[in-house]
Amino acid sequence: MIQKIKGTMDILPDETPLFRYIEGIMREEAEKYGFGEIRTPTFESTELFVRGVGDTTDVVQKEMYTFTDDDKSISLRPEGTASVARAIIENGRCSDPMPLKFYYIINCFRHEKPQAGRSREFFQFGTEMFGSESPAADATVIALASSVIRRLGLKNIKLHINSIGCKECRPAYRDALVSYFSGKTEKLCDNCKSRLDKNPLRLLDCKEPDCKEIAKGAPRTTEKLCEKCEGNFDMLKRSLDAMGIEYVVDTSIVRGLDYYTGAVFEFIAEGIGAQSTVCGGGRYDGLVSSLGGPELPGIGFGMGLTRIVLAMREAGVADILPKTPVLYIAALGEAAQVKALAITERLRREGKYAECDIVKRSLKAQMKYANKIGAAYTLIIGDSEIEAGKAQLRNMQDGTQVEVDLDSFNID
Ligand code: ATP
Ligand code: MG
Repeated sequence: MIQKIKGTMDILPDETPLFRYIEGIMREEAEKYGFGEIRTPTFESTELFVRGVGDTTDVVQKEMYTFTDDDKSISLRPEGTASVARAIIENGRCSDPMPLKFYYIINCFRHEKPQAGRSREFFQFGTEMFGSESPAADATVIALASSVIRRLGLKNIKLHINSIGCKECRPAYRDALVSYFSGKTEKLCDNCKSRLDKNPLRLLDCKEPDCKEIAKGAPRTTEKLCEKCEGNFDMLKRSLDAMGIEYVVDTSIVRGLDYYTGAVFEFIAEGIGAQSTVCGGGRYDGLVSSLGGPELPGIGFGMGLTRIVLAMREAGVADILPKTPVLYIAALGEAAQVKALAITERLRREGKYAECDIVKRSLKAQMKYANKIGAAYTLIIGDSEIEAGKAQLRNMQDGTQVEVDLDSFNID
């Protein structure tokens, strides 16, 4: 028996209506906020992610699916932002009127330890906005995420915001972090020991229990913000207040990818276990220029679909009714089977959802099946019905029957 690869999933028709419903709301909301859908390749040059996501991040160091193709190192995308930044540079969009607004619903690949809410292929709704430095852009992107969450009926999700500073204030904060962690190196994991030199901010994002404990006492990003970052963070808070979006300031949020600057945020769900961040995002003002494009500020988020599904189940709002057929035709004998096919085809061409027996069930079994699939009407045809050109259309709800003409009847 060949089985699926660990950390991947099959989504069967019982569940796809829920996914489609969620995706539909994501698309509708994104478009309402003026974001256009972008589609980029599933794999890219490894270099894109090394430069875009950052070579000191877990994602790049441990989690990428990388292989060699024609002597070139290629990786399956672990996230979507770097690809979108590459695409706008490559397609000459950086001089378009600003802002540029994109969204996508994609699969991403990370070699992580599979558990509830964490898989190796996962699905993400992402948005990216380029060309505005203003906290008004941050507020808009956050409002979009929160609007999706609200429309999905999720009330047990809280918005956490923080500012991690820019290239002006980051050095001072970096120094403060280095001096804090330097006295505690023997307790840090090996990864964090090397992060201390290369990218000390990453230490705050380590998932090792000892490192997490030490990180709790570390200086806070908000203590070292420059005037501009402080002012921006303040305006973001005022904007969210004015828009009626609730949040908490949470200085433990630093985000796992290197490109973040300034405002960062997470939407965290209660009651879905350890993998509780359903959406994470922030500002990445240095990304486009680091990939060879112009200085173009950006902000965006990624929202994990599986975690949204977990949160919806937890909240009891995941029961999306599957579409049920309006008509089921039970057919007895070969001639009736052919006639049933002709009728279902006619109705389907008219946009109706009709089914007929094609597995030669007995009449009793066919009626049982019609019930199971929730057909609103049934029609039984055998030789005598074909001869008369008429049959009884039965309303399954109230049991009433009317005679209909087989070649011309219709249903609502
Ligand atoms: P985490 O800290 O949970 O690993 P992250 O910071 O690595 O998350 P991002 O790269 O910001 O996550 O991705 C955005 C969102 O995508 C996450 O908030 C989460 O909902 C989802 N996500 C990330 N990694 C996975 C995964 N391996 N499986 C399922 N969903 C994921
Ligand atoms: Mg991660």
